[in-house]
Amino acid sequence: MVKLTSLYSGSHGNCTLIQSAESNILVDAGFTYNTLKRYLNEVGLTPSDITAILITHEHGDHIGALSGWAQHNDTPVFAHRLCAPSVESKCGITGVQRFDDGFRVGDVSVDFVKCSHDASYCCGYRFYDGYNYVASVTDTGTVTEQLEEFLLPCSIVQIESNHDEDMLVRGNYPYQLKRRILSDNGHLSNRQASVLIDKLLNGNVRDIVLAHISENNNTHELAFAEAMKVFRNRHIEEGRQVRLHLAYQYNRSKTIE
Ligand SMILES: [Zn+2]
Ligand SMILES: [Zn+2]
Repeated sequence: MVKLTSLYSGSHGNCTLIQSAESNILVDAGFTYNTLKRYLNEVGLTPSDITAILITHEHGDHIGALSGWAQHNDTPVFAHRLCAPSVESKCGITGVQRFDDGFRVGDVSVDFVKCSHDASYCCGYRFYDGYNYVASVTDTGTVTEQLEEFLLPCSIVQIESNHDEDMLVRGNYPYQLKRRILSDNGHLSNRQASVLIDKLLNGNVRDIVLAHISENNNTHELAFAEAMKVFRNRHIEEGRQVRLHLAYQYNRSKTIE
């Protein structure tokens, strides 16, 4: 079975650990190398245990730890072929493995979906080990039909619930930044996430993780409450058929399996 642990998630740094029987895969490597090492340590892992690092896109909150990592380890790093050059130049590294199609990491098949985000290319990932599908998709301004279909087979889904639209609009972010976040190339709001969750409940999902929650324009309570409305509308008792989890900026979430 594929398992998912959010090591940390938010505007300052993101890293998700995906584990199968034989592989330990990181999705993104935000913050710094030392911070990432510390979080891995908490789950009993060292950098040498990591099979591969998969990058979603080249924004700093997703690649901050990569140059430090590459100085000390020769872990394979993967990025979409349209994103890999930006990752290499931003991190001052070479040898990022380019993909343009699904690929394998050890005993896990990996495929991806294009996100709608202001990067050279941004994708979400899906993992399959022959038993269950697990996906992590953040940093997307809209939910496409393609994204919904990508997530439907998954038993564990980590999605973005970035901001509360009212908090963002009333907050003190500069106008241009507000526009960027709210745009189709920005981030998913709690409301957009809840529309997606409604769709996911028609699929195989058993665990939903709300991630990339903004510190300034959201609270964990608001994100959770918005998602819970969907459960109530559909008369689904949270914690029974489907569980709802939160990812934190400065705390690891429990491992979901
Ligand atoms: Zn981004
Ligand atoms: Zn991000």
